[in-house]
Amino acid sequence: MVQKAEKIWMDGKLVNWDEANVHILTHTLHYGCGVFEGIRAYECTDGRSAVYRLTEHMQRLIDSAHILGMKLPYTCPELVQAVVDTLTVNKMKSGYIRPLAFIGDGVMGVHPGANPIRVAIATWPWGAYLGDGALEKGISIKTSSFTRHHVNAMMTKAKACGNYVNSVLAKTEAVADGYHEALMLDTQGYVSEASGENIFIVKNEVIKTTPLTSILPGITRDSIITLARELGYEVLEQLFTRDELYVADEAFFSGTAAEITPIREVDRRTIGAGKAGPLSLLIQKEYFRIVKGENPDYASWLHEYKV
Ligand SMILES: *Cc1c(COP(=O)(O)O)cnc(C)c1O
Repeated sequence: MVQKAEKIWMDGKLVNWDEANVHILTHTLHYGCGVFEGIRAYECTDGRSAVYRLTEHMQRLIDSAHILGMKLPYTCPELVQAVVDTLTVNKMKSGYIRPLAFIGDGVMGVHPGANPIRVAIATWPWGAYLGDGALEKGISIKTSSFTRHHVNAMMTKAKACGNYVNSVLAKTEAVADGYHEALMLDTQGYVSEASGENIFIVKNEVIKTTPLTSILPGITRDSIITLARELGYEVLEQLFTRDELYVADEAFFSGTAAEITPIREVDRRTIGAGKAGPLSLLIQKEYFRIVKGENPDYASWLHEYKV
């Protein structure tokens, strides 16, 4: 169960958690045309609190809405402030943040007419997304029987609610079969991403990740590319196949929720030594140093706030 906070920001107001409700004829609930974000706030080592890359997340929410043709009634600075207000009123020094923009009720039918575009922001505590021990030991994944979206069937660069039917199908199948997460291939058969994470592989100390074709442009992915290059590693954005993943030295997922989760096994084949790889753990360590305010070079990625 999600741990309740005191308030949820809804359409410009902070309302009580239990009163943040919508009408059953909310358009998005029926047709899936909505967009969301997943953001984390971390308590820094020195006691400050900071939201990680908040402006980039809110700009992506606006971009996602733009892709779906939804006009958000708030500016990026207003949305940034709303997140800070929600964390503050909920007295959260760290936690997960879930903004959601959706089409409200009014007319029914596929065309949303002039139904209002509504925005809500909820916050709750969230630990390791892929389970206890995942960050240290790595996870076991399976190639999904479900293909990732064709780029002209769904808008893959929007973090859209409806896109997630595909993700839920893949994830529930993988979990039912005893795996932690699903690996999804694109419509051509190349590796694309997981149900809510981007993927990286390492071979001979060269890092490779899928290019921004059919995948969601992850902010964690972008952080890792920047960080790894800064650490002196070569990072390629290139398509690769599942058998290239099978013989990689290391592999890991990236995402706000999953953070940097090593992959130790794919389709019952061990990856590298069958545990979290050294470069995966190095990048994970450096990532956590950044989000916890220990690396001043990346201070501009932290949006500090006071509880
Ligand atoms: C949100 C998401 C990611 C990860 O993006 P981050 O910005 O790193 O959190 C990757 N893939 C999909 C499909 C997503 O929805």
